[in-house]
Amino acid sequence: MTDQNDILFERARAVIPGGVNSPVRAFKAVGGTPRFIQRAQGAYFWDANDKRYIDYIGSWGPMILGHGHPAVVEAVQKAVLEGFSYGAPTEREIELAEAILALVPSMDMVRLVSSGTEAAMSALRLARGATGRKTIVKFEGCYHGHADALLVKAGSGLATFGNPTSAGVPPEVVQHTLVLEYNNLQQLDEAFALHGKDIACLMIEAIAGNMNFVRATPAFAKRCRELCTQHGALLIFDEVMTGFRVGLHGAQGVLGVTPDLTVLGKVIGGGMPLAAFGGPRAIMEQLAPLGPVYQAGTLSGNPVATACGLATLKEISKPGFYEALAKKTRTLVDGLKAAAAAEGQPFNADSEGGMFGFFLMNELPQNYATVMTTDNAQFNALFHGLLDRGVYIAPALYEAGFVSAAHSEDDIAATIAAAREIFSKR
Ligand SMILES: *Cc1c(COP(=O)(O)O)cnc(C)c1O
Repeated sequence: MTDQNDILFERARAVIPGGVNSPVRAFKAVGGTPRFIQRAQGAYFWDANDKRYIDYIGSWGPMILGHGHPAVVEAVQKAVLEGFSYGAPTEREIELAEAILALVPSMDMVRLVSSGTEAAMSALRLARGATGRKTIVKFEGCYHGHADALLVKAGSGLATFGNPTSAGVPPEVVQHTLVLEYNNLQQLDEAFALHGKDIACLMIEAIAGNMNFVRATPAFAKRCRELCTQHGALLIFDEVMTGFRVGLHGAQGVLGVTPDLTVLGKVIGGGMPLAAFGGPRAIMEQLAPLGPVYQAGTLSGNPVATACGLATLKEISKPGFYEALAKKTRTLVDGLKAAAAAEGQPFNADSEGGMFGFFLMNELPQNYATVMTTDNAQFNALFHGLLDRGVYIAPALYEAGFVSAAHSEDDIAATIAAAREIFSKR
């Protein structure tokens, strides 16, 4: 039999760099042929061979209701009939803004954009514009989209300015970006002691989902808040992944720390291109057309995307939604831990709301360097073992996992059984 994924991958590589429109989809880290998805429903999607997978990436977070939720489909179908895009304001943008603000009390105002990258880049510009400062602080392993100033890795010394992680980013463009180790209190204090008066903002994933799943410790998150307040810098929570995913009030709700600016994406679009950033009125009014910080977008607040986002937010706001989702996710995580323990495999895992991470080691990592000590070959064997058994997890060990409301107890049990079988063959 001919593998349709192979055929499509070959065709794709002829016309799209690497055959994909976002690098991690290419399976480069794990090897093998990416699965080309034909359709999805509920907790599943089907590849080009019509093989079914239990989907634990959910489009990297947005599909929190599962695929094709009837209420969301209906809202999108209705919106499509009314027009795709106008380039003029709509009532639905106000409704979505109001819905977001009602759920994220740290924000008085919000601006809608089309991708998380755009939202983080704009929040950064706003922070620099509002403070009149240049320096930004970020953490190794946190991803904030691919804006030039954020594609940085740590320099050689403690609290030194970073080096670009991509060709095409001149060192001058990242010379104001400080890259620190996640959860390293001493380095954080040192950076603010040295550069505090120049720091425009500190941007952080307070529960990081781009170095697998790593929580900021409560003390670390609190210290970020204190230092920003002391030094007049803005604290930016990048909640593109965690917003409406770890809980109805995001990582800020989980940690009880209030940022100045919040960056949102993924879930707020329910699978459509939609993202946002927001914060206190006085800061947000620095944006054009009111203020001097320029930001714009032809498709921003798109009427179909906002319909999808609104319908999604309505469903996740229903009482008990996150309790049920968190319980299900914990069942998965606990089951995987038990399966690994029964087979004598080093393993640990953690979850919050509908987001989880697991590690082929006994400790839960506190930072990127520790995550990256994971045995690549072992991870890849587990990934492909699961894939063969119809379970699709992220094709890289530094990515988080996502459970949706559509996953059933049977799906979770089948996933745990598949993992145990793989562990037993080690
Ligand atoms: C996904 C993600 C982004 C980038 O969003 P895109 O929509 O892919 O541009 C930014 N920050 C975080 C924390 C993310 O997880």
